[in-house]
Amino acid sequence: MNRYMIIGAGIAGRQAATAIRQRDDSGEITMIEAQNDPYFARPMLGDLIGRGTTAPQLSRENQRAMSQLEIKFITGVSVKELRHREQKTLLSTGQILPYDRLLIAQGNRTAPLRCDKGDISGIYYMDKMADIKAISSVLGNMRSVVVFGDSYQSMGVVRGLHEHGVKSTLIIPTEQLWPEVLDVVAASIIENRLAQSGIELIKGVSIQALLADNGALRNIIVDGGDQIAADLLIVTAPQMNEFTGLTESGLTTPNGIMVNGGLETDINNIFAAGDIAKLKTATTNGITQLGWLRAWTQGQIAGSNMAGGQLNYSDVPSVRTKIMDLDLVCLGQSAAQGDGVKVETGDYPYDEMPYIYKRMAFKEGKAVGALFLGDVNEAGVVDEWIKKGLTRQQCNPDVLRNMFQLHFQSISAHGLLCPVCKFHMQIEDEAATGSVVTCPVCGLDFQVERLENGRLHATAV
Ligand SMILES: Cc1cc2nc3c(=O)[nH]c(=O)nc-3n(C[C@H](O)[C@H](O)[C@H](O)COP(=O)(O)OP(=O)(O)OC[C@H]3O[C@@H](n4cnc5c(N)ncnc54)[C@H](O)[C@@H]3O)c2cc1C
Repeated sequence: MNRYMIIGAGIAGRQAATAIRQRDDSGEITMIEAQNDPYFARPMLGDLIGRGTTAPQLSRENQRAMSQLEIKFITGVSVKELRHREQKTLLSTGQILPYDRLLIAQGNRTAPLRCDKGDISGIYYMDKMADIKAISSVLGNMRSVVVFGDSYQSMGVVRGLHEHGVKSTLIIPTEQLWPEVLDVVAASIIENRLAQSGIELIKGVSIQALLADNGALRNIIVDGGDQIAADLLIVTAPQMNEFTGLTESGLTTPNGIMVNGGLETDINNIFAAGDIAKLKTATTNGITQLGWLRAWTQGQIAGSNMAGGQLNYSDVPSVRTKIMDLDLVCLGQSAAQGDGVKVETGDYPYDEMPYIYKRMAFKEGKAVGALFLGDVNEAGVVDEWIKKGLTRQQCNPDVLRNMFQLHFQSISAHGLLCPVCKFHMQIEDEAATGSVVTCPVCGLDFQVERLENGRLHATAV
């Protein structure tokens, strides 16, 4: 009987456990999770700000599915050391556990600010449910809320704060939001949308110092010496992996564990998946290898391979998220420009409501990247084009016209990102407020609502 061990019960770990059980019904599966909270979909964390609760349906469904898999769960305990020669791990409780196959799926966490010595209150690092609960408990007393970072987390947090009626300032270290995936047009549409929502965006600076009054944060000092009022600071980036035990094992590369297409590390019987895994083969063009859908798929593949499968992971690096009310999908070299690159964009007024912007990049005649903002209807098809490296002539002309001509519609559906896994779903055109749809990836049900601006919005039911 095989003994499988999974470090981290996030989405990658959970999908892996499911996949192992599908191939091996007698193996022993042990899952070790540092947190005590039940499972929740991390991309929903920001939406829970101010509510301080889990998304009940999301955790309930998942608990039910997991309880059928006969897994040994160890929660509130972290893995401290990996002794790969002995095929054992050391837990924070001092217990030493043996394994035959190990999956490292421990995700990332936000790196602490260098200027934070831990002696000032009002500074939070946004990673887990406990952070949301802590932020929610102090939110009512705060006048100036600052969010730092250009991550998925920061976008989720400013949206959550906005929906909770809290104005915030977002500081990002780059001169443009996500320059590796957004072109200047998309970035400026997003900046407008943030401004319209009352979010002040400060670009191109990092936090240098923190000023406190009686131990409570009052101001932050950024590059150049400017002071910004802040009695609550939520830090969301940069992301790092913190499992020091891995360093001695020889597995860690800077900020991640290298894996092959089968998600195997260089050490026999050790696999890695999700945010912590870095594909050796990936041509990422600077796009971070992070994200919920990616972790979901990798978890499944790693689990299957741990139990004897032969699956291979390959994808087009992508960013899938929601910024305020705008769904965003960036595929491959979505911001490509320069020599040999031909770019197509729409003929519509993208700087007005409903703020739809799409971009397609061909390099040396082949589809290499695409960007969908505000409507993601064709993202699934175009993802395939990029994977296959189709030429412009091989791409379906109706799909291209759908993307770029405002009044041309051959697809009688709307694109919408699943609010949990960010998979691009298609919703029938006649979908009215109240229709319930099921995400084909997470299998969860969502209620569709048509907003005043015509955009569709989905909420977990
Ligand atoms: C607010 C927010 C918004 C987001 N929005 C988006 C989005 O819009 N789109 C998108 O694609 N992605 C988004 N993400 C990122 C997405 O959630 C991650 O990419 C995804 O969760 C990665 O899954 P994972 O299983 O690799 O890691 P995780 O979900 O991080 O799970 C890892 C688990 O391992 C546990 N762990 C860590 N170290 C140890 C240890 N030593 N021992 C035991 N357990 C350990 C952790 O407690 C954690 O539960 C968002 C994340 C946040 C926080």
